Amino acid sequence: MYKTKAYAAPSAIAPLAATTISRREPTDRDVQVEILFCGICHSDLHSVRNEWSEFMATTYPIVPGHEILGRVTKVGAAVTRFKPGDRAAVGCLIDSDRTCPQCKAGLENFCPNLTLTFNSPDKHLGGVTYGGYSDSIVVDERFVLRVPANLDPAGAAPLLCAGITTYSPLRRWGVTKGKKVGIVGLGGLGHMGVKIAHALGAHVVAFTTSPGKKEDALRLGADEVVVSRNTDEMQKHANSFDFILDAVSANHDINAYLNLLGIDGNLALVGAPAKPFAVSAFSLLMGRRCLSGSNIGGLPETQEMLDFCGAHNITADVEIIPIQKVNEAYERLLKADVKYRFSIDMASLKSE
Ligand code: NAP
Ligand code: ZN
Repeated sequence: MYKTKAYAAPSAIAPLAATTISRREPTDRDVQVEILFCGICHSDLHSVRNEWSEFMATTYPIVPGHEILGRVTKVGAAVTRFKPGDRAAVGCLIDSDRTCPQCKAGLENFCPNLTLTFNSPDKHLGGVTYGGYSDSIVVDERFVLRVPANLDPAGAAPLLCAGITTYSPLRRWGVTKGKKVGIVGLGGLGHMGVKIAHALGAHVVAFTTSPGKKEDALRLGADEVVVSRNTDEMQKHANSFDFILDAVSANHDINAYLNLLGIDGNLALVGAPAKPFAVSAFSLLMGRRCLSGSNIGGLPETQEMLDFCGAHNITADVEIIPIQKVNEAYERLLKADVKYRFSIDMASLKSE
């Protein structure tokens, strides 16, 4: 074991603060990564505040962070794909059982025994896993990803969650040229959804509650922008979408979006508010519509997404912050005030 610096929340109501955690020394198959940038996902905030207590209760202290980009500092003897000095990335998963049908199909994200990057039982050290708000992390090679060299590191970090979480459903549900696609919520996930759906060739309509984000949405790749609080603007798109991706972090009226789907249209949820939605049967019956969901992505698809982003030169639009501003950043997330992902410059942790 070795000690490394981190930022942790000691309880659901306390701010995050500097601390020291233990990591394992790399085993034969492990890669040790010095973390350069870590994105702030709204899931970090949901977890820190234990908002998902019914589904995955938080164990404290929690060190969040699953959008990790860094440089390899050490590898175990059996590691073949990485060497010290390489750029490397880690997303939401750091282990799985590797034997279940989902793992065999490259859908480790649906493995019943998966280990999440933070707040999962730690098989090596006991306790729970600690995430990317730290100096370094040690991960089995199988769960370490390659990031194309042309991508800016601060903007590439958020691809590891916001990128794959939007890429996976857009691909799964056949988003391509000729499809009309809605993206709801212009936060970290939503703005990646707009960029990726645009790169896939779809006609993209961005839905936002923030009129001030309209111009940005067009710049990010939307063909049209709808301020969702304006019912007339919404009504113009009734029964017209092939697919809508809902990336909103809070409860909202989902029927308003279901009613925009055409026949056999599908609305996929990636946003994860803790409270259930109220769904009108008629929103689904009319037009044989589907309501579905999607959760991050498996390792092969995450690498595919990174390569796709490399080929299309796609990264997140980031506001780079020092770790000392993380609590302020959380408050801004709650106000939908981020353009469009916070990326923590981990060098700032060295001064703690
Ligand atoms: P974020 O950056 O905070 O963005 C959320 C956006 O939702 C806001 O920018 C805002 O966009 C909109 N919004 C916020 N409050 C709203 C409200 N009351 N009514 C309507 N719209 C509202 O969050 P994120 O990191 O993108 O994450 C979004 C959600 O996805 C979170 O719940 C997160 O936990 C979840 N998530 C799920 C997965 C998965 O695998 N399924 C992975 C990562 C994250 P506008 O200003 O444009 O309205
Ligand atoms: Zn995330």
